[in-house]
Amino acid sequence: MNKISIIVPCYNEEEVLTSFYQETLSAVTSIPDVSYEFLFIDDGSKDHTLEILKLLCYKDQNCRYFSFSRNFGKEAAMYAGLKHASGDYCVIMDADLQHPPKLLAPMYQALTQEGYDCCAGKRMGREGDGALRSFLSRGFYSVIQKLTHMNMSDGAGDFRMMNRTMVNAILQIQEYNRYTKGIFSFVGFHTKWLEFENVERAAGKTKWNLKSLFSYAFDGILSFSTAPLKLPGILGTILFVIACFLGLSALAQPLLFHQNADSVTLILGVVIFLSSLQMLMIFILGEYLSKDYLENKKRPIYIIREQN
Ligand code: UDP
Ligand code: MG
Repeated sequence: MNKISIIVPCYNEEEVLTSFYQETLSAVTSIPDVSYEFLFIDDGSKDHTLEILKLLCYKDQNCRYFSFSRNFGKEAAMYAGLKHASGDYCVIMDADLQHPPKLLAPMYQALTQEGYDCCAGKRMGREGDGALRSFLSRGFYSVIQKLTHMNMSDGAGDFRMMNRTMVNAILQIQEYNRYTKGIFSFVGFHTKWLEFENVERAAGKTKWNLKSLFSYAFDGILSFSTAPLKLPGILGTILFVIACFLGLSALAQPLLFHQNADSVTLILGVVIFLSSLQMLMIFILGEYLSKDYLENKKRPIYIIREQN
């Protein structure tokens, strides 16, 4: 019998945990011939989340909880959940019922009968998220797609069921600054997308504010792209062209028109030329740094999906 591990990062979720557990339990037990386990990761909650989790685990032997010593963030909670999961299939779900439990059955079917390694939810619409957050999120995903050339689209979140091979591949990636959406894309595998309507969280408040969203966006770009390190190269080249143009125009005056060279243009040209050299040197340093940065992450060089 296959086992599904349901991984739930929880940070101050006392208001929704019980209804999340009940709804998800009835969804998973409606799937024939599977056993299940819940892995609740209490990410340093300051409310009664931990007490509720202890009670759930007391009542249901298939529930486990792991309580962090402080708030480490959802990325750390997901990693801990995957690391401790023993199921043949693992699914990551938010505690606030924004990830509909009714999708568990079609996800399981996609993995067991349709030959996929992963079945991911794709949220349609952004009702309840606020106009500014929706606008910034859409902008961020279009930038990160271009910078990383990886499939990280708006709406494609962490809600997904994966088979053991894919989970083990994710666990192989041990980098500290984890941007899980990027990691899903990095490891590859065959993914089926299931669309679902966005709903407001069942109760409680979102843990995100504008500052944390910006730092999450910045982390995402820095974790999967070294493109920003190429900026000095572009700037240096532009400055170099300007310096050449100024230098030539200053020299053209005595050579072509037999006038004195314009000293202001000449000095400006020299200053811009020196700046362009600095920029180009920083670009070269950046190239070495980016190689070292990627080397330090020690990501696997390849990942095998299957073999004989
Ligand atoms: N979460 C967490 N640690 C944090 C922030 C959030 O474990 O530092 C959990 C949270 O309890 C929820 C999930 O991550 O289960 C998604 O959080 P939230 O609903 O606040 O994000 P949103 O849906 O607004 O993107
Ligand atoms: Mg939410």
